[in-house]
Amino acid sequence: MPEIILKNVTKTFDHINAVDHLNLTIRDRDFITLLGPSGCGKTTTLRMIAGLETPTEGEILIDGKTVFSAEKGIDVPPQKRNVGFLFQNYALWPHMTVLQNITFGLENLKWDKDKIRQRTEKLMKMLKIEEYGNRYPAELSGGQQQRVAIARTLATGPRILLMDEPLSNLDAKLRMEMRSELKRLHLDTDSTFVYVTHDQLEAMTLATKISLMKKGKLQQFAPPLTVYNEPANAFTADFIGNPSINLIPVKVEEKRENTLVLDMGSHKIRFTSKGNADTRQGDILTLGIRPENIEITDEGGMEAKVYSTLPSGMETVVKLETASLILTAVVFGDSDFRINDTVKIRFRSNRNHLFRKEGDQERIASGSLQSL
Ligand code: ATP
Repeated sequence: MPEIILKNVTKTFDHINAVDHLNLTIRDRDFITLLGPSGCGKTTTLRMIAGLETPTEGEILIDGKTVFSAEKGIDVPPQKRNVGFLFQNYALWPHMTVLQNITFGLENLKWDKDKIRQRTEKLMKMLKIEEYGNRYPAELSGGQQQRVAIARTLATGPRILLMDEPLSNLDAKLRMEMRSELKRLHLDTDSTFVYVTHDQLEAMTLATKISLMKKGKLQQFAPPLTVYNEPANAFTADFIGNPSINLIPVKVEEKRENTLVLDMGSHKIRFTSKGNADTRQGDILTLGIRPENIEITDEGGMEAKVYSTLPSGMETVVKLETASLILTAVVFGDSDFRINDTVKIRFRSNRNHLFRKEGDQERIASGSLQSL
């Protein structure tokens, strides 16, 4: 059971905590994506798991074995951690054929010839590169080279595969294809994958669980749809989802049990939460409304003017101007709107969120909205 456990792992560079007291338990066969803006500590985290970077503090366990402990003075070298790496610049050896690239590591480990052949055939089939065995890397497309690099990494059978933006050199179409290949590969190999990306869509679509970081600190560690539907704070709500969630400053004007009246500037809105929201009259909060939860209708609701529309066939992103706000809505299907049209908007779903304005901006309630 190759579980990876990080306990209070910290890495300090020049007095700055690149990774700050990180606690993570990555379970056997998880596909974890480490996600966050540039500089948030994703690569440093991955390199510490691999043994390529020494933490300043904390403890790392792989498969029940302590591979790093600052306190106990343990630091197992990378080659003894039984993990495979795949980095952005996955340079294949240019003077070796595809087959030689894949078998090289196994020959070094002195595997017998039959075993090498069986293993290589299985991997090449799995990664759909059987027909390229005798080609040199320069004779392959980017995606084919990527698949060879994955085969080479998997050849020695690591139960844990660490990947740092491995698809970032590929064009958008190929990247999409490789994402489904990786997801299949994850199932077919029964391995644990840890994958660094700054692309929220990639993180959402691949992961069994997303670890979202900001300035070295873990913000949320949960399955993708939980992060989307139940964001821990305004940062995670804003980072996940495209187009982004609407974040609107509001003032609590009235509070009665689980019903709040919120002042949005020019409009008032009723927020009915599932539980009792920990807030008081007069508090300033942030209201989060996902674009797909704004419905454009002919009757009822709040008045708005169409500010811009971006139809893309499957959906249209519509910017709506109210007396004091610009809101983003997504309308599915090929309906279009004219700029400057006056429309009415309603809010659907009970997954609208209230966040604190200060500190960690944590979510304090979720619920439904009704214009007043
Ligand atoms: P990106 O998406 O841009 O690759 P990241 O989230 O992977 O970013 P890291 O590369 O882990 O971020 O870096 C985290 C922080 O640590 C950054 O502020 C970076 O400048 C700093 N850092 C990383 N490596 C070093 C180093 N060797 N020396 C000094 N500072 C470093």
